[in-house]
Amino acid sequence: MINVFRTPFFLPRLYPTLLWRHSPDQPDIFLTFDDGPIPAVTEFVLDTLQSFGAQATFFCIGDNVRKHPGVFQRIVTAGHRVGNHTFHHVKGWQTPDVQYLEEVRQCDAEMAKHGVSTELFRPPYGRIKRSQIRALGSRKIVMWDVLTNDYDRSLGEQDCLAGTVSATRSGSIVVFHDSLKAERNLRYVLPRYLEYLTAGGYQFKTL
Ligand SMILES: [Zn+2]
Repeated sequence: MINVFRTPFFLPRLYPTLLWRHSPDQPDIFLTFDDGPIPAVTEFVLDTLQSFGAQATFFCIGDNVRKHPGVFQRIVTAGHRVGNHTFHHVKGWQTPDVQYLEEVRQCDAEMAKHGVSTELFRPPYGRIKRSQIRALGSRKIVMWDVLTNDYDRSLGEQDCLAGTVSATRSGSIVVFHDSLKAERNLRYVLPRYLEYLTAGGYQFKTL
């Protein structure tokens, strides 16, 4: 099987200022969940993380924070970290810079209603122009080392799990999605993934 789960080595070299992998010398894994918060799916993630004593980082869509404030509050109260994922999940390559920054600002403003501020940012689809990277200034832009492909409905649960486990290494930043599209794979993969890697001596931490 071609490893479509691990980020190709050249991308971090092309974009060295972005964060792709974190503290590779420690047996730590940095789980990230994109596109929530939404009821049921995000709540399943929170319950599952709690049962393993795992911490994670949630890259939230501002409009979902607005629609589901109680679910967002649960993420924060549980001690997880949150990051900005724009207000409407916009594609960087197709969005003028001024509008892109406004999307980021709106997402910040929605989180601020909960007393939350974050320096973490993940571009939707992983697509961002160099001019947008510059415009975001001192923000920490977080990419990933492992993509679970959980949103791919043509991917079977067992293949999703096997590919994700085999791509994971110390310091991996791993992308899951707390979205309806990913729900089937997520519900199968997440508890098994946590169980396997916890038994392997890994710890799950926030960025
Ligand atoms: Zn996303």
